[in-house]
Amino acid sequence: MNDVLRPDLVIAVDGPSGSGKSSTSRAVAERLGAAYLDTGSIYRALATWCASRSIGPDDTERVAHAARELPIEIDTDPAGFRVCLDGRDVTAELHTPEVSGIVSGYAAIRPARDALTEMMRAIIADRGRIVVEGRDITTVVAPDADVRVLLQADPQRRIARRVRQLNGAADEDTVTSQVIGRDAADAASSEFETPAEGVTLIDSSKLDLAAVIELVVNLVPRSLR
Ligand code: C5P
Repeated sequence: MNDVLRPDLVIAVDGPSGSGKSSTSRAVAERLGAAYLDTGSIYRALATWCASRSIGPDDTERVAHAARELPIEIDTDPAGFRVCLDGRDVTAELHTPEVSGIVSGYAAIRPARDALTEMMRAIIADRGRIVVEGRDITTVVAPDADVRVLLQADPQRRIARRVRQLNGAADEDTVTSQVIGRDAADAASSEFETPAEGVTLIDSSKLDLAAVIELVVNLVPRSLR
């Protein structure tokens, strides 16, 4: 595969937690020889960076400053997506229930979102061929993306997926209140429950991962694959 000959392609995938957007986006990126950007990890990195410096989500000015100055490095290889903060690999630490519990508060800060949106757009422009997943990619970060998808799934399936992913680290009741609570908190910051105009809604409730990947790949114009 010669990357130089591959056309630019931006695929935007939004959805709530547990909708299957990470597994889908990563696999689509691998299939299409594209980079992969998990924007939730960037918000998670901001939250951990602030929390470890005792900067709470109510201190909007310092959070916004941290977002602008965040010493983050991101490896957008779909097979080895990694986030380093201040030179340290924090990829695994970003997905703990503790971070999930605090991230929405930081993500609600508008000037912090603006700074991170700018960072995401710079990465998209630099990579050219990329799958980007999050909550506001189809609407705010990359509304001009070649392919825009909103991935949904009913709450029971999303909770079951999260329980499996956490591998016994949290029981079902805890995961349920976290998932529902985070959806509600995030809904105040971005619209990811109904598709914006031109965005394709895929309900993954009754589909396996391979079928969802196929649906997304089929949305890509042949000339861009
Ligand atoms: O996708 P993930 O669940 O890892 O995202 C973590 C958090 O980051 C979300 O709960 C939300 O608060 C925030 N987020 C966001 N906008 C995005 C991606 C994530 O506000 N584009």
